[in-house]
Amino acid sequence: MPANKKLLILPGDGIGPEVVRETRRVIEWMERRRAVSFEIEEGLVGGAAIDATGSPCPDETVEAATRADAVLFGSVGGPKWDSLPFEQRPELGILRLRKDLGLFANLRPAVVLDPLADASALRADLVRGLDIMIVRETTGGVYFGEPRGVTKGPDGKRTGVDTQIYHEDEIARVARVAFELARKRRNKVTSVEKANVMQSGRLWRAVVGEVHKAEFPDVQLENMYADNCAMQLASKPKQFDVILGDNLFGDVLSDLAAALTGSLGMLPSATLGAVQPSSKRHALYEPIHGSAPDIAGKGVANPCAQILSFAMLLRISFGMEEDAKLVEQAVEKVLAGGLRTADIMAPGMARIGTSVMGEAILRELDKLAA
Ligand code: NAD
Repeated sequence: MPANKKLLILPGDGIGPEVVRETRRVIEWMERRRAVSFEIEEGLVGGAAIDATGSPCPDETVEAATRADAVLFGSVGGPKWDSLPFEQRPELGILRLRKDLGLFANLRPAVVLDPLADASALRADLVRGLDIMIVRETTGGVYFGEPRGVTKGPDGKRTGVDTQIYHEDEIARVARVAFELARKRRNKVTSVEKANVMQSGRLWRAVVGEVHKAEFPDVQLENMYADNCAMQLASKPKQFDVILGDNLFGDVLSDLAAALTGSLGMLPSATLGAVQPSSKRHALYEPIHGSAPDIAGKGVANPCAQILSFAMLLRISFGMEEDAKLVEQAVEKVLAGGLRTADIMAPGMARIGTSVMGEAILRELDKLAA
């Protein structure tokens, strides 16, 4: 069997290595039971990389990520490195990878698994069965636009400036990601901006419309003001399929959508680059949670978000839809059986730790594949 699927695994800091360990057991299960073989490299990022090399993202890590077909990322950061100057902090590890690999489209599913419908911030009947995908532009917009900074005027008073700026090509490429995803889902894209008050918003709406008309007329497109989208997400979230937003609105709306699903420990994400002429596409998969220093080393972290990030990797980078579904179903079955890590604990359920959750998922995988 050819080992043609190259994975770079970057466990990072805090609970990162703990939840990655359980994910590696799922990867090993895949290799044993599903006639697939991965070529795995492991690398350093974040505080672990600072301790070993002085840099939060050494060149060797970037080179390995460039060679890989997909990167599975844990989490970075922690109190040990909190006093370092901003330019040396562990969190810069992920920013360098995003920049050097050209990862411009962040995908965050907000899925409410049936057994967790009661954990939502909303009433269970409003979110049961919820399955939204938020696509956020991540390399442009107000987080990077120039000029930016705080200046002092002649009167000694300060002014803060950020610049919201988008080139039409940046809008078009992320819109294509959203439309392509919608075609594999329920065929609807809601594009959000503030075209009523922002020039960049007017351009956003126009370019998304042009891409839609020229390349994706079969997909339903709806334009919505970002503030209205926030209200709709908090009142009638099931109307959405794919939500497309810029860096700022996508950031805010994806956190709001995450709150609808109940727990940080359950939420995966992917960040994708452009499809290259060789048809290779850089991609990085990570849970949306951080390194959770408050529980690191205690064996209680929920590994589901990391394991579900691997399911996204199978689906998006390798087209292994059936295997991705197997992993997702195994996670859902464990929860339906009443096992819970502390973060998703509910009355009447059995509380378990990280490795027992990993074992339970492997047992369900065995049953599903039998
Ligand atoms: P966090 O996501 O690490 O933790 C927030 C809360 O959620 C904590 O109480 C934590 O115990 C809990 N939690 C998170 N993941 C969990 C899981 N899998 N199972 C059970 N409970 C879980 O956010 P924070 O505390 O704001 O940040 C901690 C560190 O992580 C900081 O250094 C921050 O910069 C970093 N961070 C890194 C990333 C990343 O690596 N991409 C993302 C966010 C934060």
